[in-house]
Amino acid sequence: MTPSEAAAPLPLGATIGILGGGQLGRMSAMAAARLGYRTHVFAPEPDSPGMQVATAHTVAPYEDSEALRRFAASVDVVTFEFENVPAAALAALEGLAPCRPGLSVLATCQDRLAEKAFLEDAGVPVAPWAPVRSEADLAQALARIGLPAVLKTTRLGYDGRGQAVIRASEEAAAAYARLAPKPLVLEAFVPFVAEVSAIAARGADGAVAVFDAVENRHRHHILDLSFAPARIPAAVAEAARGHAARVAEALGAVGVLALELFLLADGRLLGNEIAPRPHNSGHWTMDACDCGQFEQHIRAVAGLPLGPATRRADAVMRNLVGPEGQAAWPRLVAAPGIIAHWYGKAEARAGRKLGHATLLLPWGSLAGARETELLDRL
Ligand code: AMP
Repeated sequence: MTPSEAAAPLPLGATIGILGGGQLGRMSAMAAARLGYRTHVFAPEPDSPGMQVATAHTVAPYEDSEALRRFAASVDVVTFEFENVPAAALAALEGLAPCRPGLSVLATCQDRLAEKAFLEDAGVPVAPWAPVRSEADLAQALARIGLPAVLKTTRLGYDGRGQAVIRASEEAAAAYARLAPKPLVLEAFVPFVAEVSAIAARGADGAVAVFDAVENRHRHHILDLSFAPARIPAAVAEAARGHAARVAEALGAVGVLALELFLLADGRLLGNEIAPRPHNSGHWTMDACDCGQFEQHIRAVAGLPLGPATRRADAVMRNLVGPEGQAAWPRLVAAPGIIAHWYGKAEARAGRKLGHATLLLPWGSLAGARETELLDRL
């Protein structure tokens, strides 16, 4: 299929190419199979979670242009499951197959400077920030933004890697020296009361569906828990959803994206990051919504109409991380009211996301529930 023929929905049996072999690709491939599509996963790691459930796979580096060409020739559309896929790989594919979302979306979200400028243009407020290309830039930025502040790499940061909190000006030089690659970005430290995210899907026809906003809690910089819906005022939750929808529209993205936001004590929301793909904070949607994030993503990528993002239950999702997550599996997979998912990773290394478990609750019951009792079950 050429890019210009991409407007019609993919026929049953067509093949969706997925760059990246992780759990997001795995769950996307499972959703694709349910809708009658084949998948072809391209990733450098053999026996990756995505490959275990895909129809076909290619194990090759993202820089292998010949392997990329063969991959493009074997698929009808290309998507990606993590945003650190080298832009050059997507650039090479874009002339050969429709890419959803495309290179421009990937490029905006791979670079924190471009992302922040984009968020501001899209009408999503962000914390004060400044690009840092030298130590002199950092001194100026600190003078303007004040302390504490967070210095981050602009590329390849995730799960809290590639950032340093600067609490005193004497810490600035060491933080600058440690973080790489340059350039960096300095942000004001946000005294948030909660971290919130909203996930939006945008179809090839431009329709947008947004899931209910959720509240996220991290442990050692890795998402630990998502509470759906977020226990925040309804107007704030609607604002978060509105921001996610605006981002999807302004990016022109076809597929699912997550917008991570900080909630301040006065009810204001500040945008932090866009993930242009299904997101860990949306895993609850597969079990609690009519059409979860992975099915929405595949629907969008395949040119099908989006499904309803309606939530049918309240939910708490816990990530199963490292050896501790593995130890919890036998109990969780046997527990009533919990839907457990395992990703098939070969090693249970510390800090690795191995699976997740979603506790489903009657619709509307989360806000009044005692959190400790819920977490005892998870
Ligand atoms: P990020 O890689 O930007 O998603 O940041 C990872 C985590 O670091 C976030 O989920 C926050 O908990 C924390 N964080 C990032 N940026 C800030 C900030 N400007 N102020 C306070 N905390 C932050």
